[in-house]
Amino acid sequence: MPVSQTLVSLAQEMDHTGQQLLLRWDPELVRRFTALSQCLQGLAEQAGAEPLQRANEELAAMLRNWSKRRHGNDDVLALRQHLSLVTQLASLPLPSFTPPGVGTVQQSHRLFLLVPPAQLPAPALLEQLACFGYVLDVFDNAQTLQQALFLHEPGALIVYDEFDTDSVAPLAAMPACPLLFTSPRRDFAARLQAVRAGGQGFLGWPLSVRELLDTLTLPLTPDRRNPLRVLLVEDMSSLAGLYAAVLNRHGMVTEEITRPSQTLEAIERFRPDLILMDMYMPECDGQALARIIRQQRLMDGIPIIFLTMEKRPHMQLDALALGVDGYLTKPVSSEELVVTVSTRASRYRQLRSYISTDSLTGLLNHSHLFARLEYEFARAQRERRPLSMVMLDLDHFKQVNDSYGHQAGDEVLVSLSRFLRERLRRSDLIGRYGGEEFAIVLPGMGAEQATRLLDDLRDAFARLEQVSPRGRFRQTFSAGLCSSDGVWDVVALVQRADSMLYQAKAAGRNCVVSWSPPRE
Ligand code: GH3
Ligand code: MG
Ligand code: MG
Ligand code: MG
Repeated sequence: MPVSQTLVSLAQEMDHTGQQLLLRWDPELVRRFTALSQCLQGLAEQAGAEPLQRANEELAAMLRNWSKRRHGNDDVLALRQHLSLVTQLASLPLPSFTPPGVGTVQQSHRLFLLVPPAQLPAPALLEQLACFGYVLDVFDNAQTLQQALFLHEPGALIVYDEFDTDSVAPLAAMPACPLLFTSPRRDFAARLQAVRAGGQGFLGWPLSVRELLDTLTLPLTPDRRNPLRVLLVEDMSSLAGLYAAVLNRHGMVTEEITRPSQTLEAIERFRPDLILMDMYMPECDGQALARIIRQQRLMDGIPIIFLTMEKRPHMQLDALALGVDGYLTKPVSSEELVVTVSTRASRYRQLRSYISTDSLTGLLNHSHLFARLEYEFARAQRERRPLSMVMLDLDHFKQVNDSYGHQAGDEVLVSLSRFLRERLRRSDLIGRYGGEEFAIVLPGMGAEQATRLLDDLRDAFARLEQVSPRGRFRQTFSAGLCSSDGVWDVVALVQRADSMLYQAKAAGRNCVVSWSPPRE
């Protein structure tokens, strides 16, 4: 997380805690407030945000003296105003100075490891991880780790299991990143302990790069950077807004539609992890709508939960028989709503990722790439926007396997996937077309811009050093490209990109060739 964002969240958390304190003076809350305020102070100092430092100091002083004297309405008002002042100052742009070390490393590629001093990992592990673009920061005590977590949002926090659980507990609540445990014991008891401490993954010790990378590509929940998406279909927009507000407060993203006929389009566009649906709507009832959704192959698995006043068991059973995943009876409590929706949505997301992505690279697999391409292509035509399709193939890859081993070959595939994911936009589609071939879809990008981008990627990737136990080497790729301009369907688009790839190979490899219409 960039410093500016951390400051904002800290200030918001302080504001929240401060407001609670005004209602109920609780030593636990005071401690929490003080800890937050100290962290904010440290960060504000590093970032050179002087007005924020001053306001925060004053606020801390106000609170320190708070319990020592009686206070009237004016004091309460002043404290409220001060809380909001700090929040506002925290959201101002920071002076251009950035503290050393912050923002210099891609945060999601940074891993934090907490281990006892006697258990430091082998330097070879750090080197291997570096080959995959990961930096491993090792901490041997919870305090320094905690400070680091205020400054960075790493890709994962890994905790050695024999670490005293009390010092880990507050950490588990803190990071917006996945929490993993590692232990030399692989037994049930060790796994249970890890799960109870809030662990989202479990790794053997000593750490293996392969196991670590596998775990990191799984969608571990909750993931604040990629929140769960819930589509609400409810004819009463006021009610939908109410549910949406509850889900949003718990970090989920929502989209509301009031007409069942908008549902299919909304699913394609919004790509929900779950649909929350009213059972009685004028245009078409929930059961019929659920049936329509279940008849679409690519939408088939999305969990659907009905919201209804219906309490008669046979009606509920009918709906369950339809393949609806659950029922919430109105009025539904916030807690029940949040728990039901978030567990099912994240479970579905995880299952979907197993099916739609390639297990080695975590990229879209062949069939899902094509399904998404068709949608993007249709959208590009409709919106009269360009789109480019790229076919990419590693050069002389067979020789890599032959000279450095299949494992080294696999690692090149993983490193290219990571490289592409990092360099391309979230809206771009990246798939493993098969073997050592990849397909990329760039919505909104015409041939010229896409060619330039691909050529930059080609150049940068070719410079990367690939490391294997049998030696270091470099790997190049060739790419063929075609833009949707003047192309009538997806098949033609892919064929043209593919034939351009063939030309790039024929032209000597390590190059990008773009399709251009034949001259008359
Ligand atoms: P070219 O430049 O013409 O593409 O040469 P090439 O050697 O890359 O192409 P060829 O099609 O002859 O060989 C592809 C090789 O890719 C053969 C296969 O062993 C390797 N390969 C395909 N999938 C995988 C994989 O999942 N892991 C590894 N390690 N190798 C793979
Ligand atoms: Mg209704
Ligand atoms: Mg090849
Ligand atoms: Mg090939």
